[in-house]
Amino acid sequence: MNTKKFATAINCIDGRTQIPVIEWLKKEYKVDYVDMITEPGPDKVLSEDRDSFTIQAIRRKVEISLNKHNSKIVAIAGHHDCAGNPVNKETHLKQILSAVGAIKMWNLGVDVVGLWINENWEVHKVE
Ligand SMILES: [Zn+2]
Repeated sequence: MNTKKFATAINCIDGRTQIPVIEWLKKEYKVDYVDMITEPGPDKVLSEDRDSFTIQAIRRKVEISLNKHNSKIVAIAGHHDCAGNPVNKETHLKQILSAVGAIKMWNLGVDVVGLWINENWEVHKVE
């Protein structure tokens, strides 16, 4: 029986963002592992709601993490200096909140949290 706790993160492909998000989720939610679903600029993709193929692919991966690993939290992250979504911080923050709303519409039955990763690669909850 798997008693380890998992969280789920929708994060950028950017290698600078992976460890900060994993460490933040492990600390804040007392999880052992983070299932990482990556896409360039996922805050843009989910907030714009244009690329339904990519969005459905992300959703399918999230659902596997929730169903098979019993994750109770989904994080969506945006970050400073994003090659896939080169917009200013204010736009990122709006997109992250919009992406949180979009994921909540999936009715997954778990908490959804938005994260901003700043120029020092520190993670902050977006509210
Ligand atoms: Zn990025």
